[in-house]
Amino acid sequence: MSSDCLFCKLVAEGDHVGKGNGFVAIRDINPMAETHLLVLPARHVDTFRDVGAFPDEEAGRMLRFVAETAKAAGLEDYRLLVNVGPGGGQTVFHLHWHVLGGRFDGTRIAKTLATEDA
Ligand code: 5GP
Ligand code: ZN
Repeated sequence: MSSDCLFCKLVAEGDHVGKGNGFVAIRDINPMAETHLLVLPARHVDTFRDVGAFPDEEAGRMLRFVAETAKAAGLEDYRLLVNVGPGGGQTVFHLHWHVLGGRFDGTRIAKTLATEDA
């Protein structure tokens, strides 16, 4: 755990909507869709670019946990989003998966996907 990392803190003491072996799901504080969850691995890895830091078995469990989180939220159709690096829209540097379902706020999504100078 990195003591100055927001998501490490939320893994330890956040309001979890789901909890698996080494992973938690929380509600995004600023939702872009009717359902907007974040899947956080307990292991601190800065960004998806470094996904190789996860042992293969743990990386596999992470994918399964993402799917279970969406299912548990009652979603059948949904989007997954991983922002990678500042140029890819990442603002919190602890790898996380956005699980987005239901009605979308199109303006927010467009803003999120736009690059700074667009
Ligand atoms: P990123 O832009 O790094 O892909 O996503 C970071 C996400 O974390 C954003 O969607 C933002 O709304 C969410 N977020 C930032 N701070 C907090 C917080 O304190 N609690 C929760 N639940 N979500 C947060
Ligand atoms: Zn962290």
